[in-house]
Amino acid sequence: MEVCKGSECLKVELIAYSLPKDGNVDKLVAESGAISHAPHFKELNEERVKNLIELLKDLGHESVFEHACFTFRVEGISRICTHQLVRHRLASYTQQSQRYVKLKNPIFIAPESIMDSNFAEEYLELLEKASELYRKMVEGGIRKEDARFALPQSIETKIVITMNARELRHFIVLRCDKSAQWEIRAMAREMLRLAYEVAPILFQDLYAKYLKNTD
Ligand SMILES: Cc1cc2nc3c(=O)[nH]c(=O)nc-3n(C[C@H](O)[C@H](O)[C@H](O)COP(=O)(O)OP(=O)(O)OC[C@H]3O[C@@H](n4cnc5c(N)ncnc54)[C@H](O)[C@@H]3O)c2cc1C
Repeated sequence: MEVCKGSECLKVELIAYSLPKDGNVDKLVAESGAISHAPHFKELNEERVKNLIELLKDLGHESVFEHACFTFRVEGISRICTHQLVRHRLASYTQQSQRYVKLKNPIFIAPESIMDSNFAEEYLELLEKASELYRKMVEGGIRKEDARFALPQSIETKIVITMNARELRHFIVLRCDKSAQWEIRAMAREMLRLAYEVAPILFQDLYAKYLKNTD
């Protein structure tokens, strides 16, 4: 058994995103949006791209943002976190299966509040006991899909997430907020940081609100 304290094992990678043949994500979105008010498709310079994306944000015409997609690979998070994540319905997910994958060395995510408290020892004993029972049951012929009922929700999982930019912005607003739970907030902040790197205009406002000066 392994235990990750807080977000120390969290790993978020941006493995794919929409790139036009010529340009970047911001340009893709702006040039798609521009056709609504132009007789022909046309290329926009950087200033026009910026102005148009800001205008679309101000007007709330965010359907244009759906032309850009982002795919993230996430590991080092608990099933508690992914349970919250998959409530976001306008995204695509593929998650490691506990029916098909035998957890040879279960990893658990443990909140700092518990690990730094007097309950840490008792909590770790519980995780150890759950891992041991899971192992014994699988080796004793209980199917993995049933043996997993012994595992706490804090078990680590891996997931691939694809969101378009409109949904990603919505997700970030809800999950980077201070009211969000610490684990999904840490993941959302990483997703914002990575999205901002490749689409600085699309995510400028959210980066300024949730990440700048808070790193
Ligand atoms: C701080 C926090 C606390 C929470 N606590 C709880 C809780 O205690 N219990 C609980 O059950 N959930 C809780 N949630 C989850 C929350 O209720 C939402 O299910 C979750 O945030 C997904 O939001 P969403 O529906 O806006 O997003 P998405 O599913 O990503 O949808 C994006 C947007 O698309 C539109 N949309 C999507 N589907 C439909 C539809 N069927 N009909 C109409 N419009 C649609 C809506 O405009 C929606 O905002 C919490 C969320 C947060 C951020």
